[in-house]
Amino acid sequence: MAKVVILGAGISGHTAAAYLRKKLNKKHEVCVVTPNAYYQWIPSNIWVGVGRMTIDQVRFKLAPLYNRWGIDYHQAKAVSIHPEGDPLLSKPFVKIEYTNNEQKGMIANIEYDYLVNATGPKLNFDATEGLGPEKNTVSVCSYDHASHAWKALQESVKKMESGQKQRIVIGTGHPMATCQGAAFEYILNVAFEIRKRKLSHLAEITWLTNEFELSDFSMGGANIKRGGILHLQKFSPSLF
Ligand SMILES: Cc1cc2nc3c(=O)[nH]c(=O)nc-3n(C[C@H](O)[C@H](O)[C@H](O)COP(=O)(O)OP(=O)(O)OC[C@H]3O[C@@H](n4cnc5c(N)ncnc54)[C@H](O)[C@@H]3O)c2cc1C
Repeated sequence: MAKVVILGAGISGHTAAAYLRKKLNKKHEVCVVTPNAYYQWIPSNIWVGVGRMTIDQVRFKLAPLYNRWGIDYHQAKAVSIHPEGDPLLSKPFVKIEYTNNEQKGMIANIEYDYLVNATGPKLNFDATEGLGPEKNTVSVCSYDHASHAWKALQESVKKMESGQKQRIVIGTGHPMATCQGAAFEYILNVAFEIRKRKLSHLAEITWLTNEFELSDFSMGGANIKRGGILHLQKFSPSLF
């Protein structure tokens, strides 16, 4: 019998858990450690950020699903990995700290035979002074951020409806920030929502990017099918 421990239940961790549980014989154990009670489908946060979807349409609770699938679930964050064990535990293990209300702050060691580290990117707002939902900007990186962004957008729309001009800057922060695609998707949706309300004449919408050219998306752009094959560098300017 082998035990697979997966750190993180985001897009990659949850997918790994689902496939492993499906493909592995039941004598093998699948265990997920993640600090959130919910799985969130991050790409749909764009729709939360423009009020087209609610938070509950982009997330679901992990515990009932993992219980049904026979996955051992710990609502906790991994704090350290010990591949060689320690003087007390001969097997590799992960030290975890629980984040759920009942066990908050409790520490445990989870042994493993195989480890999948799927803890995702770190949201590094601190790399750009003043950036972040706790400071001067909004974000669509998580559902709570996106819901906050939607509130701010509604306030801006209200101001425009009363005749006030609004300048809206959308983009990414410091040079290591990637996921330009999400910001690009969001700016197009914000522009669409403003246009739909016939307020475009009161909105100055600015794209802020660390890319050297539009639609590079940190991968040299992409080809799309639009009456033939078209590179994004040609297609994207037509959207503005
Ligand atoms: C608004 C938005 C739209 C996007 N749209 C697209 C798109 O259309 N197409 C596309 O391909 N990509 C898109 N992306 C990027 C995509 O969402 C990410 O690439 C993807 O979520 C990364 O998956 P992941 O599993 O590596 O990390 P995540 O999905 O971030 O999951 C990481 C998980 O690890 C958990 N975790 C963190 N620390 C610990 C710890 N110490 N111990 C245990 N667990 C931990 C987290 O809580 C989370 O559950 C978008 C991103 C954003 C923000």
